[in-house]
Amino acid sequence: MLRTLSLLAMGASASALVFVATAQTPPEVTLARIDCGTGAKPTIVAERFSDTFAYKDLALTFTFSCYLIKHGDEYMVWDTGFAPGSNPNAPKVGIADRLAEVKVNPGQVKYVGISHFHGDHTGQLAPFTNATLLIGKGDWDGVTAQPPMQGANVAGFKVWIDGGRKVEPQVLDKDVFGDGTVVMLRTPGHTPGHSSLLVRLKDKGAVILSGDLAHFHENYDSNGVPGFNFDRSQTVASLERVKKIAANLKAVVIIQHDMRDIGKLPAFPAAAK
Ligand SMILES: [Zn+2]
Repeated sequence: MLRTLSLLAMGASASALVFVATAQTPPEVTLARIDCGTGAKPTIVAERFSDTFAYKDLALTFTFSCYLIKHGDEYMVWDTGFAPGSNPNAPKVGIADRLAEVKVNPGQVKYVGISHFHGDHTGQLAPFTNATLLIGKGDWDGVTAQPPMQGANVAGFKVWIDGGRKVEPQVLDKDVFGDGTVVMLRTPGHTPGHSSLLVRLKDKGAVILSGDLAHFHENYDSNGVPGFNFDRSQTVASLERVKKIAANLKAVVIIQHDMRDIGKLPAFPAAAK
């Protein structure tokens, strides 16, 4: 304010100041969670989700989360969950129908970013006919390898591969819209090309959608690693990275499979700003 006043006092034109202010204002960014499935029964996490026997009888019902990011008048979807009806954990309503509730056509979506190639994150890629797929290169290589990597949901990517849709495999972090508001972060370990998504909102502040970096709070807090992860040391390093980013940016970390994190964003169709 003082600076503005002094500039005015120096004779700078008010319209020039307005122009500068407008040019530097980033587009509004919003973030909404879309339900993409619920565990039909609780998962006994001791069986597979700790390689150090950390849990005796902890049972958690997992949720499956997808997200819609609006950046100005452009859209991005992060993770696509299970396809409706594909299994007992799958959602009743698909993403395309959810998007219709906020008057978005899947064909309008510019980017589909996915945390990793597993089936519970890649079941609804098909509707996004015009989107560029953003995926860690390690995962894309796993999907397209002959034979494909174990766990890669090749069927989910079939339309992408057969239909020649656009894909940008990421080797580094990806500043999706070029203004730092939405950044795909390299967080390998769960899979070779696992990624998380940093979204910086004007009012709510920074939010990190952590994919399957951890599946639930107890593993996140203790650097716990599931026995089925691709690489233990990468997982621990990625957990350390996200925790440091969260501390430095005072970010809200959302563990996508943890029911206890659903309330960190407003209930759809509302979105955090
Ligand atoms: Zn998952």
